[in-house]
Amino acid sequence: MTDVLAVTEHRRGELRDVSYEIITAGRQLADETGGDLHLAVISGTVDDFAEKLNREGVDAIHTVSHGEEFNHDVYTQAITQLYDDLAPQYILTPNSVNGLDYAPAIANALDLPVVTDTIGLETDGETLIATREMYGGKVETTNELEGAAVATIRGAEWPAAEGTGDASVEAFDAEIDEDAVGSTVNGFEEVGGGDVDISEADVLVSVGRGIEEEENIPLIEELADALDATVSSSRPIVDNGWLPKNRQVGQSGKVVTPDVYIAIGISGAVQHVAGMKGSDTIVAINTDPNAPIMDIADYAIHDDLFDVVPALTEEFGG
Ligand SMILES: Cc1cc2nc3c(=O)[nH]c(=O)nc-3n(C[C@H](O)[C@H](O)[C@H](O)COP(=O)(O)OP(=O)(O)OC[C@H]3O[C@@H](n4cnc5c(N)ncnc54)[C@H](O)[C@@H]3O)c2cc1C
Repeated sequence: MTDVLAVTEHRRGELRDVSYEIITAGRQLADETGGDLHLAVISGTVDDFAEKLNREGVDAIHTVSHGEEFNHDVYTQAITQLYDDLAPQYILTPNSVNGLDYAPAIANALDLPVVTDTIGLETDGETLIATREMYGGKVETTNELEGAAVATIRGAEWPAAEGTGDASVEAFDAEIDEDAVGSTVNGFEEVGGGDVDISEADVLVSVGRGIEEEENIPLIEELADALDATVSSSRPIVDNGWLPKNRQVGQSGKVVTPDVYIAIGISGAVQHVAGMKGSDTIVAINTDPNAPIMDIADYAIHDDLFDVVPALTEEFGG
């Protein structure tokens, strides 16, 4: 029997989508040997979170009520104590900024191997077989870890768990050594671009280098307004300082899964596609019919964005 402990994630009072996806990943792993799936819900409004996370496939939810937001030292202490108490074979965490902060620390504290950014997990006896992408998604590697291990899972790779579950919910009495808590979250300061989270958007209007100069960005914003959509971009736009970093889609930006992704003047480099290939419907506007984005687009508009975008804005904003 292989039990799995999956750590959920929230920010500013909201559960992150990956918290539901990690249930699916954890359930699949636990199912391979008939083990249990335990969820850890740490900090914030834990009872409310536990209720929302009580979905099909979860066997037990362990809440640790301590502070409001993510804190490295609190998470590290709580998870290592949960591990000692539950003795799971595997610990799963999101491959998020937070997950990448504490996963190596708990692996180190527990003397376990860690594999990050996994997109597939299965077992073969006592071996965990983790799939990862390399070279911007050009190749996949399989990584074998013997015995117990920590794995971080990439967002939007597993479907969100659905259906109401009947997991037990228990408050776990973690003994947090306050002297070892070296930082506190005093608040959030919004960076340029406001509080936009492109990974939560239903429709994204995404702009690339084909836009040529910063003065043309309003063209894209007007289309986004007309569609009630959110503006995102490829990396060069952010590197040029034309849009803030929180708008960047891709390997070194955010992974997005909107219903509709409109790629405007974006070539479709592997590093970009890694962040948006999970979109339901992809529309590409590009003057180059051979641009890689055209191969993955459901609708490819082979034309000049400076003609197409104003026409679309007029049509939808009309
Ligand atoms: C380690 C690493 C990480 C990276 N991470 C990311 C990442 O997270 N996100 C990301 O996006 N990139 C990332 N990159 C960069 C990536 O390799 C590409 O350079 C980048 O995605 C290209 O952006 P683009 O498509 O906007 O520009 P380009 O590749 O220059 O493409 C511009 C496109 O616009 C089209 N075009 C030009 N004029 C018009 C017009 N008038 N109308 C319509 N179409 C037009 C062109 O035909 C072309 O296809 C990363 C690279 C590395 C090495």
